Amino acid sequence: MALIVQKFGGSSVADAERVRNVASIVTDAYRKGNDVVVVVSAQGDTTDDLIEKAKEINEKASKREMDMLLSAGEQMSIALLAMAIEKTGCPVVSLLGWQAGVTTDSAYSIARIKKIDTSRLTAELDRHNIVIVAGFQGLNKYDDITTLGRGGSDTSAVALAAALHADRCQIFTDVEGVFTADPRKIPNAIKLKEITYDEMLELATLGAQVLNNRSVEMAKKYNVELEVLSSLTKASGTLVKEVTKMEKMLIRGVTKDTDVARISIIGVPDIPGIAYKIFGKLASQNINVDIILQSVGRDGTKDIAFTVSKANGPAAVELLGGCDFLDGLAMKCDTDVAKVSVVGAGMETHPGTASTMFEALFDRDINIQMISTSEIKISVLIDAKDADDAVAAVHKAFFPEED
Ligand code: ADP
Ligand code: ASP
Ligand code: MG
Repeated sequence: MALIVQKFGGSSVADAERVRNVASIVTDAYRKGNDVVVVVSAQGDTTDDLIEKAKEINEKASKREMDMLLSAGEQMSIALLAMAIEKTGCPVVSLLGWQAGVTTDSAYSIARIKKIDTSRLTAELDRHNIVIVAGFQGLNKYDDITTLGRGGSDTSAVALAAALHADRCQIFTDVEGVFTADPRKIPNAIKLKEITYDEMLELATLGAQVLNNRSVEMAKKYNVELEVLSSLTKASGTLVKEVTKMEKMLIRGVTKDTDVARISIIGVPDIPGIAYKIFGKLASQNINVDIILQSVGRDGTKDIAFTVSKANGPAAVELLGGCDFLDGLAMKCDTDVAKVSVVGAGMETHPGTASTMFEALFDRDINIQMISTSEIKISVLIDAKDADDAVAAVHKAFFPEED
């Protein structure tokens, strides 16, 4: 007998038929003699719909009230799934995040799980109940409901698996695992049998939505092996773990991230301390900076460009616009950009990855505006309109026989 944590995303519980399908996956595992803890997300587009509802009433609603509203989506789906399981005759109980002992820090809308008190969960398992837990939510020190950021149910599942020392953590979704690119956009993308935490973390951070990046960070920290698989087919999925038997693959995936804004400051004085002042100012307001590019100084000035998330673009311009050391300089925020990346631990030992990627972009006449690299990834900033074409071209360059 094992303890299994199973997580089902929004599309897996989108309507009554899908809820019944999930109930049958869960009860199958239970009837085989396992203890089963299930994490569910809000049904289908419920979270987006709730955000729209809030906007109709107050465009600038407080994050506290947004969390109160958005957490309702998961409350609905845990009750509906529990009802479907009741109908099968299996014992079941649904719990909100706080009832399951999930406490978080106070950062409404992007809270981090601090601790899980497992006493209620283990008591319910001891009573042989299937336990359904609302993903994406917890309680902070003020006894307020918090949410963990979009896609946060993955993190709830991993955190519960770690806290309960589960034998398995299965992330069920609407595709059959982690692929070398989004299988909805690149039909010939290849399903990976295995991927390391580090590679998955890069893929998730750079736009592969299939796992939330914080969930991968947590899985690595607590050594929770993840299995990503489909709730709709019985195909085997992808294992996410510390070490993999490296398949002969230079790169593991190509991603696209359109949540990017590029800020350019033209004619910055070419003197020491300017970069420190600019990026120190941004850091003081918790504005995270990604790619940075500085031109060679000429005639005592230089240009500095960097990227932030789209939401932080206006705030960054306003903040820097108010700084005396940048007084009067032209500043531009461009949101029509996208970041396309290749990820793979293999590139560290294989020269030529960058040139393969750049050649694929050149062949499609796509201009690279910025480049950033680490040991296991290469990212380029390009025009947003070219992003899908770029992903297809780069994928084809690395996986030619599949296209
Ligand atoms: P869930 O509702 O189950 O949490 P998500 O919509 O958050 O599911 O994530 C699954 C989606 O991630 C897939 O439908 C797919 O379009 C997208 N995706 C993007 N990149 C990848 C990738 N490399 N591998 C698999 N899926 C990906
Ligand atoms: N329902 C939340 C969202 O749409 C959390 C999740 O799906 O993981 O972001
Ligand atoms: Mg998701």
